[in-house]
Amino acid sequence: MKTLTADITNAGETPPLPRAAYVHVPFCRHRCGYCDFALIAGRDDLIADYLAAIQRELTRLDAVPDLGLGDACLELATLYLGGGTPSHLGPDGLARLFDILHARLRPLPGAEVTIEANPQDVTEPLAAAAAACGTTRVSLGAQSLDTTTLAALDRDHTPDDVRRAVGILLDRGFTVSVDLMTAAPGQTLADVERDLDAIVALGTQHLSVYCLTWEKGTLFESQRRRGTLQPAAESLERAMLDRTIDRLEAAGFEHYEVSNFARPGGRCRHNETYWDCRPWEAFGPGAARFDGRLRITNHRSTTTWMRRVLAGEDFTGDRDAMTPLEAAQERVVLGLRRRDGLSRANFLAASGLDLDLVAGSSIRRWTDRGLATDDGERVQLTREGLLVSDALWAEVL
Ligand code: SF4
Repeated sequence: MKTLTADITNAGETPPLPRAAYVHVPFCRHRCGYCDFALIAGRDDLIADYLAAIQRELTRLDAVPDLGLGDACLELATLYLGGGTPSHLGPDGLARLFDILHARLRPLPGAEVTIEANPQDVTEPLAAAAAACGTTRVSLGAQSLDTTTLAALDRDHTPDDVRRAVGILLDRGFTVSVDLMTAAPGQTLADVERDLDAIVALGTQHLSVYCLTWEKGTLFESQRRRGTLQPAAESLERAMLDRTIDRLEAAGFEHYEVSNFARPGGRCRHNETYWDCRPWEAFGPGAARFDGRLRITNHRSTTTWMRRVLAGEDFTGDRDAMTPLEAAQERVVLGLRRRDGLSRANFLAASGLDLDLVAGSSIRRWTDRGLATDDGERVQLTREGLLVSDALWAEVL
């Protein structure tokens, strides 16, 4: 079997080969009340068919003319198994999935290989199986270390499950990232501060902190409409993010993207592919891939995706062919979500367009209001800008 090394070229030319791949594992024990991800809860009977469908979808790589892979492996700098809950497959299921993936996706030496895990699933055998499969990083869906907040978020694990899981993963030598949620129903600023202190004390290398969002079709959203759940006030949400940045920076974390914090050297390289708008491959229900010009999303329904893949039918859902201007506008948003901001020279080289033609008037408005700084080469959001960033993007897109 031959092996191909990805070729990095500038945008505007033939898109480079993807060096990142995402695999969606759609199984969970229980659907949390706020979650609208593509997943199926309580249907472990479908895991064998899912694995067969992933194996079949990987043969899609044969038919992509730009990849020209034949039967070769795609070499990867990063591989990310998300969900759903990849750890729900257990040690044997995880090993089987990696066997299937490794037949066509080959992480290069030094590659970042991440799996998402739920605290309850993390055991010594699971950690051993993940390590044996080449996993280097585990992203743990903790959300909180407070019993009341976990109950308010409809999570099915305890703070002790989180502590135990982090201990197992760090002892095994993984880089560990923890997801934390703010603006949970009834959560106060003091609750968030206590959560941050407790999570910092765990000693993980990375934290992702998200504000609860109320997605259409979720249990939480229907309870909000009936008036039985109340979203946090916007001012409280902002205060929570503000306090989070203060607390984590004081603890030695670098705030490198609106929602992401890393100890030195601990940034998530896989997510940086998305934020740099570099191409990536993706497999599984609801998984979206990007070839540098076109974003294709697989059918969101696990059963429909599986049935169509296994029947040899079209299993894709949305196809989003962005114009160069739309792609550049997205690059502005993704770039400014990062603390490094946007370099005019890099933006021009990557998009072929002048940053000021794409977003000049918005950038001037933001700098006038103290929401951004602009030294003529680099534009960065200020702390004030980051706190209101979600409201800014409509001006660009
Ligand atoms: S465990 Fe994660 S993916 Fe599964 S339902 Fe809960 S939030 Fe969604």
